[in-house]
This record gives sequence, C-alpha cells and structure tokens, in this order.
Amino acid sequence: MLRFVLFGGWLCSLVVGLVALSCSAPTPPSLVAIRPASAPNQQDSPLTLLGEGFDSTAKAWLVGADGSKIALQELRVLEPGKAEAVLPKGAAAGFYDVLWEQDGASSRLGSAFEVLSGVLTIDMVDVGQGDALLIRVAGGKTVLIDAGREEDVDALIDFVRKEGINRFDIVIATHYDADHVGGFAKLVYGEDGRPNTDDDRRPTEAWWDRGGFSKSTSYSSVRSLFPNIRKTLDGSGPESFPSVDLGAGVKLQVVTTNGSVLQKDGTLAKVDCGADENCRSVGTLISLGKFQFWTAGDLTGGGIDTPDVESTLAKIVDPVEVYRAHHHGSRTSSSQGLLDALSPQMILISAGRQNSYCHPSDEVLKRISPIPDLSLFVTTSGMIDGEKCGYVTSELVSVMGQRALLNAGNIRVQAGEDRYTVRSASGEVRAFEAR
Ligand SMILES: [Zn+2]
Repeated sequence: MLRFVLFGGWLCSLVVGLVALSCSAPTPPSLVAIRPASAPNQQDSPLTLLGEGFDSTAKAWLVGADGSKIALQELRVLEPGKAEAVLPKGAAAGFYDVLWEQDGASSRLGSAFEVLSGVLTIDMVDVGQGDALLIRVAGGKTVLIDAGREEDVDALIDFVRKEGINRFDIVIATHYDADHVGGFAKLVYGEDGRPNTDDDRRPTEAWWDRGGFSKSTSYSSVRSLFPNIRKTLDGSGPESFPSVDLGAGVKLQVVTTNGSVLQKDGTLAKVDCGADENCRSVGTLISLGKFQFWTAGDLTGGGIDTPDVESTLAKIVDPVEVYRAHHHGSRTSSSQGLLDALSPQMILISAGRQNSYCHPSDEVLKRISPIPDLSLFVTTSGMIDGEKCGYVTSELVSVMGQRALLNAGNIRVQAGEDRYTVRSASGEVRAFEAR
C-alpha cells in the first residue's frame, strides 16, 4: 500500500509494510499575481495573492523602491496557489514589489502593486476608437461610464479583472453609438458569454441611459436584464438629473442628458437634438473638494452643423480641473466657448490610432494647443498618416512640448481634495494643485 506523507513541505511516499521511504523536495513558491493591483492608503485593503507552492509558514511583504518593507497582515494560505492578506492603511503612495518568503525560498514580483494616495480614482481605459471610464472611490462606490465597442471590450475586461473589480454600483450609457455601448453585453455576461449566470458582472444600484429606442440591439438586450434598477434620464424633468454621493466626499451630478441642461436654479434648458444621437449624451460632473472632472460622451457644440448643447452648458458650468474631451476630440465639439468656460488644466482624449474619423481633429487641437499651462493626454498616437485627413496628431501638438503626451494608453487620474495626478500606462505622471 502506498501512502503519501508531508514533512514540513517535503512530500514523501511511504510503502507500508516495507522499509521504503522516498521524498521529493517541496515545490518552490512562485508568486504569479496580486489582486487587486492597486489600493488606496486611507484604509485597510484585502488582497489576494495567486501563484503555486504556497504553504502556511509563508510571509509576504510589499517592498518599496528604497527597500522599505511593509508586512502584509493576516496572511492565510487557502490552497497551494491562493492566499489572502490585508494591506494595513497608511503605506506611502507609489509602486511596490511583492515579496513572498517561505522555508528559506522566495518569489518576487517587480512593481506589481501600487498604493494610491487619493480617495478618487478615474481610469480612462484605452479601448481604441471608443470610450470607457471607470470611477472608483476608496470605501465608496464604483461607476462605469460606457464600455467601448464590442470588438475592443476585451481591453476593458482585462482591466477590471486585473484591478479586481467584480461589480459596478452604477452603470451609465452616455448614448447609443456602438463605440460607447457595444461592449456592455460582453462585459456584463462574463466569461461564458451568457446572461443570468453566476459569472455575470451585474450592476447593483443603478443603470442609467437617455431612454427611448437604442439602435444597438446588444445594448437593448443587456439593459433589459435590469428593470428594477434601470432609470431613464430623458431630460424631461428634474428626476433626470440625479446627484449621487459616491462616498468619502465624492459627488456625481448629471448635468445634461437627451439635449436638456440643468440650470443653476433647477430649471431646464432644452436643445432640439433632432436625429443627432451625440447631442443626447449624458454629461456628468464628478467632484471632490476643489477637484472637478467633466465628462459627457460625444456631446455636440455646433461644429459641422450639429445641434449646439455646449453653448448652453458653457453658461452654467464652472471651471474644472480635468475635461474628458467630447466626441474623441472631433470638430463637432469642444467649442471655444466651452473650453473658455471649463478652463481645464488637463484634457484627456480617447481616440483610436489612425481611426477613420480623423479624431482628434485639427480644429480642436488648434484651439487647445495655444492655451498656456494646459496639459493633454491622448490614449493613442491618433492620426499618424497625413494622407488621410491632411494632418498628423503629433505635429499638431508639438507646440505644447512636454505638456502633451500621445500613446498614453490607459490613463489614470488620482485625486484628493486639493491635489491630483494624471498618469499614463507607461508611468509618466503630471501632478497638479486643484484650484
Ligand atoms: Zn464616440
């Protein structure tokens, strides 16, 4: 009879009744991933460590660039490839290696974890020619605004998986163009691609859109799964303009939807959108202390004869720190009047590399580039071939020097009440004081 016995990590086979004992060395521990890949330093944060060969004698640390070590608390090995631990609050913001040690052996993941300083994190995920924005508040709510095109949504799914996000409190579809709502179904249905199964990523609190008919059939299907939390923001009355406390002092306010703009006195100003879908985009202001972030899908401002919602908006909006450029930097939008009213310190543009729409447009970049002290991040290199549109994005922004960054990839805004940073995927950081 053959039996297996464990001695301090060594696996031994014992042939009972005979004097035969053979042992194999323990599998050395190997750390593969840490989830989530980032956590704020204002609170204790639960973490999951994935790998192989874990045993219960292990210890784990975050190791800073200066060699300083932060011990992970309450480490529990659940199985040889999975452990849980808690990162105590108070760690200095920055990137850390993750170090695993047991039985004199160790495994290390370089720069695998980021400690965040502000309570508010806004990620513009690079979904090519489309939009997807994730808003997270430490100890508060998670909001998803748009999910990109169906063919690009894997970038968003990879992102939420890596960040350990498995539910959304609020989902907002700004409008029904495929580059904003095409990815929702695949994202919500999960790995098996089918609704109403255990792996669905279900919103828990609210699903907002402008109401009415959606020409995207996949979007119509996925929103119909949530009749109890779905709310139509058709712009006909004040209930179309919810204001939500996201926690830790962060507020989300809907300001425009379906061509209506909420005035300071609570009344509504309406623009006739006609058949223009972009004009109907839901626009929201996200604020924390002095920090303000404006985003509004593909909202139009009169360029190329589009209905002009931006002029109405410009009359009531206060200056913001960050403006996520409407309509991927298209010349339908980002009118001079709106740019003057918003007066941002930083503009973010989500646009596909060498896209067929010539985004971002030369008109908008020529309005942006002369503004003193304004910074610009674009997810991709934009237009790289002058043949197609008559301009190359990198040439148009070259006058901005270091203030403009192309190919930023996933862009992260990390905000506290007075200060914020904007970071590219490759780690270029700009730091600002909120005004
Ligand atoms: Zn769009």
